[in-house]
Amino acid sequence: MDNRIRKIVIVGGGTAGWMAAAAFSKLLGKDFVETVLIESDQIATVGVGEATIPPIRHFNERLGLDEVDFVRQTQATFKLGIEFQDWGTIGHRFFHAFGDFGADIEAIGAHHYWRKLQEQGERFALEDLSMPTQAAYRNKFVPPNPDPRSVMHDYAYAFQFDAALYARYLRGYAQARGVTRIEGRIVDVQLRGTDGFIEAVVLEGGARVEGDLFIDCSGFRGLLIEGALETGYEDWSHWLPCDRAIAAGCGSGGDGLTPYTRTTARPAGWRWRIPLQHRTGNGYVHCSQFVSEDEAVADLLSSLDGPLIGQLQTIRFTPGRRLKAWSRNCVAMGLASGFIEPLESTSINLIQTAIGRLLDFFPNKDFDPVLIDEFNRLSQQEMEHVRDFIILHYKLTERTDSGLWDYCRAMAIPDELAHRLAVFQRTGRLVTHDDDGFAPPSWLAIFHGLKVVPDRYDPLVDRMSVEEIRAVLDARRAAILRAAEAMPGQQAFIDKFCRAE
Ligand code: FAD
Repeated sequence: MDNRIRKIVIVGGGTAGWMAAAAFSKLLGKDFVETVLIESDQIATVGVGEATIPPIRHFNERLGLDEVDFVRQTQATFKLGIEFQDWGTIGHRFFHAFGDFGADIEAIGAHHYWRKLQEQGERFALEDLSMPTQAAYRNKFVPPNPDPRSVMHDYAYAFQFDAALYARYLRGYAQARGVTRIEGRIVDVQLRGTDGFIEAVVLEGGARVEGDLFIDCSGFRGLLIEGALETGYEDWSHWLPCDRAIAAGCGSGGDGLTPYTRTTARPAGWRWRIPLQHRTGNGYVHCSQFVSEDEAVADLLSSLDGPLIGQLQTIRFTPGRRLKAWSRNCVAMGLASGFIEPLESTSINLIQTAIGRLLDFFPNKDFDPVLIDEFNRLSQQEMEHVRDFIILHYKLTERTDSGLWDYCRAMAIPDELAHRLAVFQRTGRLVTHDDDGFAPPSWLAIFHGLKVVPDRYDPLVDRMSVEEIRAVLDARRAAILRAAEAMPGQQAFIDKFCRAE
């Protein structure tokens, strides 16, 4: 009996659908499996999703995309991290950079040595030891230097891009490699009588599309995974109370093409600012319990760099995850699989990892339940790590100016997060997990940025004298400063190498 998956049907043509189609077309190939994507022009994509994290570069590389062409086609800019304004306290800012606070010294994190110098009365900022932060604060960008001895070696970068253009770009890529696109609205999902697996989807007008494996990329509605299979949803609102976003594009201006995303905490949530080549993306993620829609719109409009472009878009969401990302012969990706607010630009990355995991666990037609359980266990763990990382930003606030911040300061947090926080607070050590979406330096950036001061530094730091430590860290700061000053501005870099036509 032929047990092989012969046909994959992807439902939805947003970022998730076209990323999946592009990956299958390249990594599985049309001779191994037929891939069909169904999307409806009548049902809009969310189309926000503008900021990413560094692993997106691996995804593009695996597809074989030319980076310069990709940057041009998607009106992208480069991103070295995220600036946080007014988070812990109003008026305070810090930076979550895609890189460490300098290389380890004798296998111990540089922040432990910095902590020791602080105790001795030194007063320079930990961020002075972060190359990407110093570059970002000067609006500078160049890719990292491959030479491990360079201070410019130790960072990564991502992109800020137009998600609709990215989906269009991948659509061309996937179709050129044999993916069939079907335009039409799905009005019915037919299940097999024997086991409840999905047999076919039915389009308006009656056309029926059968498949072996269905990928639900239909957005928040989860047409297959929830609408047909009733998989269930775990609601995380008690930890992440924001439930709405208003998004708006505007003309460029303000601080220009910053090589970072800015998030500014507000009394009822936070605003984002994401500069692209052709416009700046803005939004206000907020909790409807603490602000009316009119007030939220006014807040957002008051912050724009330039004239409004297009319409305001209001998006409602429930933070949480689908109880099973994979149910029977259906795998949900993107918004159909769950949603965590975009504070750390994680959603597109979760699509990427879901695609990778499906390829790792690619099934036969018997859909072995052990395989599915393992896929779901890993998906759950990954989402929970991201969730905890985001909760941390709220929990550590010292703001007392609104009901939202009062709630977040006092709320109970998941046990695993409480453990991470305690380990850092007591010892300055960072808990690590192989499947963490964010590496220890990212956790350090948030702990430090939100003013968690560890009780002590690593005792092995005392192997070096204060003078020796000062000499090493002073030399690093000076080298970083010189390198940051010498870099070109992001605008100049783009103009020279990858300006969109
Ligand atoms: P959608 O874009 O909603 O696409 C759904 C598709 O399904 C559409 O093509 C639609 O036509 C199709 N469809 C639905 N129903 C039917 C039907 N009955 N018949 C046929 N077709 C159908 N992510 C980031 O990584 N970075 C960010 O900065 C970021 N910012 C965000 C800001 C906000 C406010 C929100 C809400 C999300 C943000 N995201 C971000 C998440 C990101 O937008 C999504 O992960 C990404 O757009 C993927 O969406 P999707 O493809 O799952 O769904």
